[in-house]
Amino acid sequence: MKQLNKITLRLRLTISTALTLTVICVLLTLSQVITYSATVPATHLNADVHLSLNSTTGTPLSEEKNDFIYWSFVYMLVMIALGTGASYFIAGKALKPVANLSETVKNIDENNLFQPIKSFDTNDEVAQLAASFNHMIMKLEKSFNHQKRFAANAAHELNTPLSSIIANIEVLQMDEHPTVQEYKEVLDDTLAEAQRMSLLVYDLLKMNSSLNRDNCESFDAKTMFDDIIFTVLESSNEKNVRIDNNITDITLFGDKALLQRAFLNLVQNAVKYNEDNGAVIISAVQREESVTVTIEDTGIGIPEGELESVFEPFYRVDTSRSRALGGSGLGLSIVKTIIEKHRGKIEIESELGGFSKITVVLPKK
Ligand code: ADP
Repeated sequence: MKQLNKITLRLRLTISTALTLTVICVLLTLSQVITYSATVPATHLNADVHLSLNSTTGTPLSEEKNDFIYWSFVYMLVMIALGTGASYFIAGKALKPVANLSETVKNIDENNLFQPIKSFDTNDEVAQLAASFNHMIMKLEKSFNHQKRFAANAAHELNTPLSSIIANIEVLQMDEHPTVQEYKEVLDDTLAEAQRMSLLVYDLLKMNSSLNRDNCESFDAKTMFDDIIFTVLESSNEKNVRIDNNITDITLFGDKALLQRAFLNLVQNAVKYNEDNGAVIISAVQREESVTVTIEDTGIGIPEGELESVFEPFYRVDTSRSRALGGSGLGLSIVKTIIEKHRGKIEIESELGGFSKITVVLPKK
């Protein structure tokens, strides 16, 4: 049976049809021969077989019986041969679109990687296979372009501080007698840019960190947010932004370190993109299967048309403001990655000049 898997589908179909046909033909022929023979014995039992003659043809009955058996088997073999030939031809015709599809797929190379294959006029399984293939190509192309954009943006983000460092050093080199103060300024700038690059590289690495289910545990949400508020205390005090932690008795489940990082990012943003004297309200609701956490701020808000894009890597609503505030533009996409790794969902609502509200839904287990 295993050998059958090594031959083409066309041959396999032909062989199985031929086998079925052979069994049917042999059974039919045998039943015919047996029925026929059953009518002859009476004459056969006569003392002299050769004297029993067919009344119409005048041929001895035993000879006629042998002829009948002989020709029955000849016809049977011809039927089997014709049937096998026909099934080989029909299987070839039926499988032609598969062969075409396979040929088209074989011709795909790096130059036409995302070229959809020609759709089929039919509505059969092969046409459905071609449609599924095209659908897969579309998704691959989207993901490939996403990766390309990501790499280009990452390169650009890394290039900006590097260019600044190089420019500062070149200016210093042009000065024949730089002062200690000038050296100090260049060093300070270089350090700031290097720190920015280090943060970006750290964020890029974090984006690809995978979730280890063994690290998942249940932990208290209120305590985690108290720690987060303590971490952002300096920046919230600078802007006089009040942070209310309204969570009581809520348990979260997941990789604590990763989730803490995600929520820290959200609270940092709520403070960073807030007005002076604004507020941040953190609350949570426990449901049967999930926990919903919301972080709402009274900040600058986000234009409606840009709400979808803020989760894209390196997307910033106001590039210069965001850079000045030390953002890499990766924050929300890292948060989304972490939440999705926990099989959760994240949504954002906002009104420009009004508020921003982030809702995170996490499964309980
Ligand atoms: P960044 O590192 O620049 O802060 P993020 O990915 O965290 O990048 O956010 C993307 C952009 O979304 C930010 O540049 C900012 O313009 C906008 N944004 C994020 N959170 C808020 C918020 N709470 N209020 C207003 N704008 C926000």
